[in-house]
Amino acid sequence: MSSSPYICVTTQHATVQELMDDAEFKGLANRPGFLVELRLDAFNDLNEAALHRALNVFAPNALVTFRHPKEGGLRSDASDSKRLRYLQVAADRGVKYVDIEARTPRTGFNKRDSKLILSYHDFEQPLPYDILRGIWLRHSSQQDVDVVKVACACKTVMDSAPMLRLLRELQTMPRASVMVRVSGASVHVPQPLFVSMGEAGIWSRILAGRFGAPLTFARPEHGLGSAPGQITWRALEELYRFREIESGWPVYGVIGNPISHSLSPHLHNTALKAVRAEGVYVPFLVEDAPAEFMRSFGSTLSGISVTIPHKQAMMMECDQVEPAARAIGAVNTLSRMDGGNIQQSTVSGWLGSNTDAPAVADTLEAALGTLKGKHVLILGAGGAARAAAFGIKERGATVSLLNRTRERADALAKDVGAAVVSLTDLPNLKLDAIINATPVGMAPHVDATPLREAQIPPGVLVFDTVYNPLRTKLLELAQAKGNPTVEGLSMFIGQGVRQFELWTGKKAPVEDIEGVVLDELKKARTARA
Ligand code: NAP
Repeated sequence: MSSSPYICVTTQHATVQELMDDAEFKGLANRPGFLVELRLDAFNDLNEAALHRALNVFAPNALVTFRHPKEGGLRSDASDSKRLRYLQVAADRGVKYVDIEARTPRTGFNKRDSKLILSYHDFEQPLPYDILRGIWLRHSSQQDVDVVKVACACKTVMDSAPMLRLLRELQTMPRASVMVRVSGASVHVPQPLFVSMGEAGIWSRILAGRFGAPLTFARPEHGLGSAPGQITWRALEELYRFREIESGWPVYGVIGNPISHSLSPHLHNTALKAVRAEGVYVPFLVEDAPAEFMRSFGSTLSGISVTIPHKQAMMMECDQVEPAARAIGAVNTLSRMDGGNIQQSTVSGWLGSNTDAPAVADTLEAALGTLKGKHVLILGAGGAARAAAFGIKERGATVSLLNRTRERADALAKDVGAAVVSLTDLPNLKLDAIINATPVGMAPHVDATPLREAQIPPGVLVFDTVYNPLRTKLLELAQAKGNPTVEGLSMFIGQGVRQFELWTGKKAPVEDIEGVVLDELKKARTARA
């Protein structure tokens, strides 16, 4: 088995001295499993003495590169021979990796004990499959090459699909056959290091090791990365367990747009880690066309969470849809029918479920007791309101709906069997609970509220499905009036716990999940302040 891949932290320092003074990088020097990338073209004070000073601190656990000006290098005056001279110093000092662009002639360069990364960068555009494969074949057959790196821009997740296709082929193909076709001889097959740069290509960084890469690039915690889409080394190490991921691990994911603030990766990766289950959960920015995404990425995934705006469209991608989800008209969960806890090994394909609906009902039941005979007003008539309405109706509650757009409320009322009311009806309704299923009050609009204080009926339980912030303006107003309140976090955790249990067949570690999600929400609040 190959050794665990490295996390290579990129530097953005203007001088060697700045790098040497950076406390975070001092801490990373020689930390097991880590490399520091020395981008020599970025250092304004570069000379051989400065390089030796840097290597005194970081060698051997460094990846050294002097980027070619045509591939993002910052020193347009640097000749090939000058760049190579510095890289030879790094190899002579025994750094783990030297990264040289394929366009740079390597005459006279001796990699010694370092591993040679032969790289190609395109910051402008994604590469189609045929070009990517051509680069792989050409570069992997070159002498002395240990790693073939291709990094290209990726604006949508589909831009990165050719990389996934090639990575999967390389994984399944007998590796030697890739070489035989090119050179007629098979000696040493390099490792692929394919990076889709951009938020939509984050998967390629998290799953790099799973597809045979020797390392992935990460950004420092305090500072910027060197390429779009890099995530922090700490998130890779602690949240995604990057160094532990093995090629057979199941991959789960969440698709949506936007996705960068989703707490689902925190929820699921924490749960997988806490119960020591194999598996990693990855965010996928899927702007549109979830069907195309499924065609390219579906077979790599073992479970999918679905968020805005794909909950309706993803129903079409399911081979079976649970009756409750069908009635709601939306799925937030896709599970493999021949895997996880579903155990219907004779059936394959995707099962679509809606775990939002039971999560709302469970949350309300925990606060109110049985929902039979209870009267609940739902604010909103979108996806969350639909899930809430069906979820609590199924447990015996009477539902009323209040929505900005009356026609939408009418349509939902007809589907679920509910009344539609207006604000003026509020004082006359005998309610047990109000659920806010609109985004009103969600960060950054934390001072907004769907109901003013005077409109909140006394004594009624108020449950806000919005969970960022945890205590919304609506909940604060209700609490100030003495009403019982319930935060949306319990619904979020409830829907995720059900997903986790469907996929893994293991009991979800709810306390661990709550701890990490609360921490993340606190961080978000601090960042807003
Ligand atoms: P959606 O399908 O877009 O529906 C939004 C609903 O809110 C619509 O009924 C819309 O009314 C109404 N609305 C939007 N802006 C409004 C405003 N300014 N004033 C009054 N009404 C407004 O969204 P969704 O999927 O239902 O999600 C709604 C919220 O639920 C999310 O923002 C999220 O905070 C929460 N949620 C929480 C969880 C959880 O796990 N806790 C899960 C899912 C969703 P119109 O029909 O008039 O447009």
